[in-house]
Amino acid sequence: MADAKTNLLGMPRAALRSFFEGIGEKPYRADQVMRWIYRAKVTDIDAMTNISRSLRSHLREIAEIRVPAFSAGRRSSDGVVKWLAHVEQGQEVETVLIPDAGGTYDAPEAGTPTRRNTLCISSQVGCSLDCSFCATGKQGFNGNLTRAEIVGQVWQASRELAARGDDRGITNVVFMGMGEPLLNFQPVIDATDVLMDDLAFGISKRRVTISTAGVVPRIRDLALHTDVSLAVSLHAPRDELRNVLVPLNRKYPIADLLDACRHYLRRLGERRSITMEYTLIEGVNDSLADARDLARLLTGLRAKVNLIPFNPFPDDRNGYRRPDAKRIAGFQSSLLNAGIATMLRTTRGDEIGAACGQLTGTVHDRTRRRMRYLAREAVSMQTRPAP
Ligand code: SAH
Repeated sequence: MADAKTNLLGMPRAALRSFFEGIGEKPYRADQVMRWIYRAKVTDIDAMTNISRSLRSHLREIAEIRVPAFSAGRRSSDGVVKWLAHVEQGQEVETVLIPDAGGTYDAPEAGTPTRRNTLCISSQVGCSLDCSFCATGKQGFNGNLTRAEIVGQVWQASRELAARGDDRGITNVVFMGMGEPLLNFQPVIDATDVLMDDLAFGISKRRVTISTAGVVPRIRDLALHTDVSLAVSLHAPRDELRNVLVPLNRKYPIADLLDACRHYLRRLGERRSITMEYTLIEGVNDSLADARDLARLLTGLRAKVNLIPFNPFPDDRNGYRRPDAKRIAGFQSSLLNAGIATMLRTTRGDEIGAACGQLTGTVHDRTRRRMRYLAREAVSMQTRPAP
């Protein structure tokens, strides 16, 4: 049987150069191929006309550019677009484009330089962490995406934008889709490398954000490899509460998590900070006492808080609700008054299930968590008193 072909998509430049050296070619071939793949969006090796015919035919035998297929995008009236990226074994992960207000996907305002096109990408098929308020966790987990499947989401989305005459392309990438990026470490690092490479997407390190539920040892490792922006899903100022919302906290409690953040902040330098994500759930973590505890916890740390009003999803069995606007504003002012920079994330794309925490895709659950979850629900339905 012939060996599987090497997929050149998502390969960092250094790896691609070694690949060419390994077949007796000059390393600059890597640069040529990268321009074809990412700038010209060419996947057919034969179309790479500045490469000799004989090298092209050799390349075709050993390599390919295989991009995960995208389904037709679903469009929300606020301009958000959600695609399903088809990955292995008939599974699908979700990718979400969030264009800045001021231009929409359908009617890009040409020449508005401040406009951002943020792409929210997935790093795993499902998620193994099972945070209590997140739809992805309820789907269960199947495995990691490859670097090609991660970069492929950005490749496809930027091609879609170009096809619609939006030549700004993807300006920001956040690893806030399905999965825990730090549990798929090397492919995520490789992908960030390609996202930032001038021959590929050329996105600055400040505009590439890895979001983590708090895999402490991996935050420390991250500092050895990169200095992209970091967001931490905090959601609670105390361990008893965070243990419930983010079960990973039992392994890596808040104090350890903040130590790892301080470590990463040294890598980021004086002028950059870490974003603390805090999903506000009514009656769970949204009291003024919680805000005070949070402010106390973060004082002295270069951190900004990003408040995310809870987004409901169909499978939620906890009966979680989003606090009303007044309560959210009270929580935010309490933090601001304590001197903590705090932003409120506007809910976007919720009408198509594309908002934070609503992404599900198609996951063949290998952990049987979804089954156990539904079974538990069936039992509690039976034992519930009749209304
Ligand atoms: N595993 C990573 C990446 C997922 S990020 C992480 O935990 O950071 C997704 C972001 O959306 C996280 O901050 C997550 O906590 C938040 N989120 C998840 N479910 C949500 C929901 N139902 N409503 C609002 N935000 C949610």
